[in-house]
Amino acid sequence: MLELDEAAFRGQVVRPEDPSYDAHRKIWNGSFDKHPAMILRCARVADVVAAVKLGRASGLPVTVRSGGHSFSGLSVADDAVVIDLSLMKGVRVDPDRRTARVQAGVLLGELDKETQAFGLAVPSGIVTHTGVAGLTLGGGIGWIMRKHGLSIDQLVSVDLVTADGELVRASADENADLFWGVRGGGGNFGIVTDFEFRCVPLGTQVLAGPLFWPMEQSGEVLRFYRSWVADAPDELMTIIIHRKAPPLSFVPTDLHGKPVVMVICCWVGDPEQGEKFIRPLRGFGSPVADLCSQKPYLTHQAMFDPSFPPGRWYYYKSCDLAELSDEIIDVTVEHSMRIDSPLTSFPIWQTGGAVAQVGDDETAFNGRSAGFTYNIGACTEGREGFDQEREWVRDFWKALEPWHEGVYVNFLGDEGSERVRQSYGHAKYDRLQALKRKYDPNNFFRTNQNIPPS
Ligand SMILES: Cc1cc2nc3c(=O)[nH]c(=O)nc-3n(C[C@H](O)[C@H](O)[C@H](O)COP(=O)(O)OP(=O)(O)OC[C@H]3O[C@@H](n4cnc5c(N)ncnc54)[C@H](O)[C@@H]3O)c2cc1C
Repeated sequence: MLELDEAAFRGQVVRPEDPSYDAHRKIWNGSFDKHPAMILRCARVADVVAAVKLGRASGLPVTVRSGGHSFSGLSVADDAVVIDLSLMKGVRVDPDRRTARVQAGVLLGELDKETQAFGLAVPSGIVTHTGVAGLTLGGGIGWIMRKHGLSIDQLVSVDLVTADGELVRASADENADLFWGVRGGGGNFGIVTDFEFRCVPLGTQVLAGPLFWPMEQSGEVLRFYRSWVADAPDELMTIIIHRKAPPLSFVPTDLHGKPVVMVICCWVGDPEQGEKFIRPLRGFGSPVADLCSQKPYLTHQAMFDPSFPPGRWYYYKSCDLAELSDEIIDVTVEHSMRIDSPLTSFPIWQTGGAVAQVGDDETAFNGRSAGFTYNIGACTEGREGFDQEREWVRDFWKALEPWHEGVYVNFLGDEGSERVRQSYGHAKYDRLQALKRKYDPNNFFRTNQNIPPS
């Protein structure tokens, strides 16, 4: 029996019979079609406390949803109580102290708009409709991380509701063990209602955008890229994309539908120095389009939005690799040439820079020494063709297996406990398990990339 004091609950309670049930049970990845028992759309911290208590009393599985962008679809489950934070949209930027207080339902683009009003930024991800909450709790990689670190590297504190329904704060000075754990350990220790970040002085412009070559030239492009990027200063971040060029307004029409390899740059710093560094890339071979120019940071942050709309079917498998060796480049080219769906695209992330300068033990996040992160993803409009694309992802990922180094927890699918352990490494995983025993000994928060208590 699900009893809630609805007079005291300021948010919205959504049950299967409610007209808005279908809208609220949906998440970004259309391949998940879950039917929870109840969705508790919390409007304030007291609602989250009440929702946790109700979840406990119900004995049903509990899931936590903020931006709804979990690759593994774990923010909604059948017959579960969904604790939905998406109504909690408060953002307060203090331009003098250069901090931002951000509630759990805020999306990346919503945060960027507030910080950019003051020429500030919080490092985050590359698609504006992703949730700040889930992204930050796993680490948070994005366009400015090589200069300014991960999202967690600018995190000052969190307010968190524990499995007992207690509200606690975690920071470097308060519950420091918990603060270590939430910086990479995901939703294992409780529900974060508020994040406090330091903001970095970014300005409002970046030198950014993609250069395109025909995909047949991918081998040469990647070999050139590998040596060019080896000397890159932290101001530069790049992502490589292989795909059929999308029919978007900023892509030249003669390229639409043609297989291409893109190197997308984002330079945060002096644009003249950026131009100088990027010049050899512009001059390599004959790019069929060069859209790298000075533009508003907000524009660049939104660049990928049209390629990843909610509702399509997506499947991902990810791995970190130390380097782009000749063998890895060959595997990459071979599989990229086999991309079938016009919607499939996969990023290869350059890593390092400021991310690698933070001590490995300082946070639970475990990918600081990665060289490149592959997030091999496939996409279709719906069920049709999905199985075939998923097989392509699995084959490609398997072909890279000899060089796998680790995996970013936020890029994991529902892949089982060994993969979660792999993403943290044994030592950190053991430490996280001990922390879980302290803060959630009954594994109440378990529909997630789960770290069971030791
Ligand atoms: C289109 C797209 C682009 C992405 N780009 C990036 C990127 O650039 N960089 C990057 O680092 N990652 C990226 N990701 C991965 C992303 O970080 C994770 O999917 C993340 O979990 C999304 O957070 P969310 O709040 O939107 O998701 P949700 O589905 O709402 O939550 C995912 C999980 O996080 C936990 N969680 C969520 N909110 C809370 C909370 N308030 N308290 C405690 N636990 C919580 C829960 O365990 C939940 O199951 C991307 C994902 C997508 C789909």
